[in-house]
Amino acid sequence: MKQEKLLLIPGPTPVHPRILNALSQPTLSHVSPVFVAELKEALANLKKIVFNKRGESFIVAGAGTLAMEMALLNTFAKQERLLILSQGFFGQRMEKIARSFGLDYDVLRSEQGKAVEPGMLDERISQRAYAAVAATHVDTATGVCAPIREYAQIIREYETFFIVDGVCATGGIEERMDEWEVDIVLTAAQKCFGVPPGLAVLVVSERVIKKRESMKTIPAFYADLLNWLPIMKDPSKYFSTPSVNEMRAFLEGTKIMLEEGMENRFARHSRVAQTIRTKLLDLGFSFVPENPYLADTLSVVRYPDGIEDGVFRKTFAENGVIVAGGLGDFAGKVFRMGHMGNLSFSQVDFALDSLEKTLASIGYPGKLKSNARMTESKFETVRNKRVKDK
Ligand SMILES: *Cc1c(COP(=O)(O)O)cnc(C)c1O
Repeated sequence: MKQEKLLLIPGPTPVHPRILNALSQPTLSHVSPVFVAELKEALANLKKIVFNKRGESFIVAGAGTLAMEMALLNTFAKQERLLILSQGFFGQRMEKIARSFGLDYDVLRSEQGKAVEPGMLDERISQRAYAAVAATHVDTATGVCAPIREYAQIIREYETFFIVDGVCATGGIEERMDEWEVDIVLTAAQKCFGVPPGLAVLVVSERVIKKRESMKTIPAFYADLLNWLPIMKDPSKYFSTPSVNEMRAFLEGTKIMLEEGMENRFARHSRVAQTIRTKLLDLGFSFVPENPYLADTLSVVRYPDGIEDGVFRKTFAENGVIVAGGLGDFAGKVFRMGHMGNLSFSQVDFALDSLEKTLASIGYPGKLKSNARMTESKFETVRNKRVKDK
């Protein structure tokens, strides 16, 4: 059998054997009692993952971009205005979607390596009426994590809806929809959920459904939440065939998350990120995001002098670890390492050992030793400390 490489790109992420097993179960009728019950359970679990009690959850065949499109098309009417908070590639994608549908929008852009300052949002939203604000939680090109909770505190003072693109965050970094009054969290299966790609995932507040009902027609059919709502309430009904196997796998993914417990999961992501960053800093690398914007789900890492992108990534892959190159202006200058989903400590340690081995074999002139490792005991201490701190 061909040796499997450890996939540490910013999605898809490594898939746990339990999820692969669920994926390989027989394809059931999409209206069979077993599948109907499973989809209901997955939808209920999804709401728990984003701390939402009163809203509605949606899982449809597609990907994160479809979820972005669904979020925009279902929340505001043509003459209304959208504000996009952009710290990189996926903020730009939000703009492109808005433009494709002829929506009116403004953009607040962050400085490189930072997210949009809450003060900028505060100032803008007090000057102009917006039907919705859309923000990327973690931008996958820059590795910048935005202060979503602070944005939410500002936006809740207005009638404005708050849409969070959580594709690289949901399930790995906390998003408390009810408490923070977030209207939409949109995401996809293949990032922090650790499920193979193929699903667009959304949780929306009650007022989003009311708003959508008040709008009558929208320029969408498959992406119309009202066409899916009856199915999400009763999956024995039909609108468009659900991806049965993928959804069974998604259910298994949500079970793994809730078994771990969301607080533990967030703490683990944070600990893994800290360990990986310590290692990289020790070895002479630096990061695109500035403190405190470093995401717990991926690192966008600048090369020190003496390392060539292509050679580094090829050798890292030969040593068992696949990482991604930089996007846009960052191409050749950075690599991107995902560390989200169901990564075990031994997988993280394997990657860190493999990194040292890679640097040694490409003749890296810098320092080659770092003691940063991910061990269960070290993690337990941190987790217990966190609990005590509360
Ligand atoms: C990956 C990603 C997307 C796009 O998801 P696809 O499933 O590739 O369509 C959107 N937003 C963010 C923040 C992402 O990381």
